[in-house]
Amino acid sequence: MKTPAGKTAAGEKTAAKKATTKKAAATKAGTKKAGATSVTTKKAIKKKPVAVPEKATADVKGASGVKTVAAKPPAAESRTALVRRARRINRELAEVFPYAHPELDFDNPFQLVVATVLSAQTTDLRVNQTTPALFAKYPTPEDLAAANPEEVEEILRPTGFFRAKTKSVMGLSKALVENYGGEVPGRLEELVKLPGVGRKTAFVVLGNAFGRPGITVDTHFQRLVRRWQWTEQTDPDKIEAEIGALFPKSDWTDLSHHVIWHGRRICHARKPACGACPIAPLCPAYGEGETDPEKAKKLLKYEKGGFPGQRLNPPKSYLDAGGKPAPPLGAG
Ligand code: SF4
Repeated sequence: MKTPAGKTAAGEKTAAKKATTKKAAATKAGTKKAGATSVTTKKAIKKKPVAVPEKATADVKGASGVKTVAAKPPAAESRTALVRRARRINRELAEVFPYAHPELDFDNPFQLVVATVLSAQTTDLRVNQTTPALFAKYPTPEDLAAANPEEVEEILRPTGFFRAKTKSVMGLSKALVENYGGEVPGRLEELVKLPGVGRKTAFVVLGNAFGRPGITVDTHFQRLVRRWQWTEQTDPDKIEAEIGALFPKSDWTDLSHHVIWHGRRICHARKPACGACPIAPLCPAYGEGETDPEKAKKLLKYEKGGFPGQRLNPPKSYLDAGGKPAPPLGAG
């Protein structure tokens, strides 16, 4: 039997136990098998009946039978059940995306803060194609602060809004030189005073360059936490506060990566791949996207040869000497 979103604490416990016993075998494969089960949402009640994969760690390839879902409004979910469901979603995503990490390339906090500022209104891929030339020419805040703006604009042109971004990265470089001795400060209050740096950018830097817990409320994060009914807030600061209250601080940075990776690879804005989603049994929004397992699989953004989102060759900086994911740069 499944673990429908919005279920009782007792049901949650039972399902969690079952999931634990099946977890090791199921998650190595990365993608999930679909069976049949009952889950419901307010939206599902209004829409046509839908079916969800049997277990959170099932293999989509093995999809066979499906079953009409029964109604169960998530509105009935208690606070305790919400916390348990939210944490279980995070655990499931941690198994699907064991190497989730910031997808911007960087070697030090300065590069990360610049790359994050440049990532506004464009893709991380585009930024990663642009920053090597930028950092080769201007490797330090001093270099970038003293650069010719027109030359920086030319390098940044592919990222869009290149004039404003040039102003921001040169301005923040200047502020780093003048106020922080050319070093990126490791405190939120100081980071948000830098030109072009808001709370989202600051938390990316704190979490990934300084090992300090932070929640990154980007567009994917906002969309997914509302789909999961973890919050109804639309203001990023309020979302950050409400989601932060559901998890221990130590989980915040990894949680952000898991949610963002899931949003980029499976739970897309317009066409979520519900029929191939590893956390469908825990999701009140199941049915918003394609529920047919085979059709949903085509919506996944795979990386060559791997399961959704898994990076087959994680950057060396992300692995420790034993080949395991290493702590964030600057941690410890
Ligand atoms: S893909 Fe569908 S089932 Fe999965 S999290 Fe997104 S909306 Fe929910």
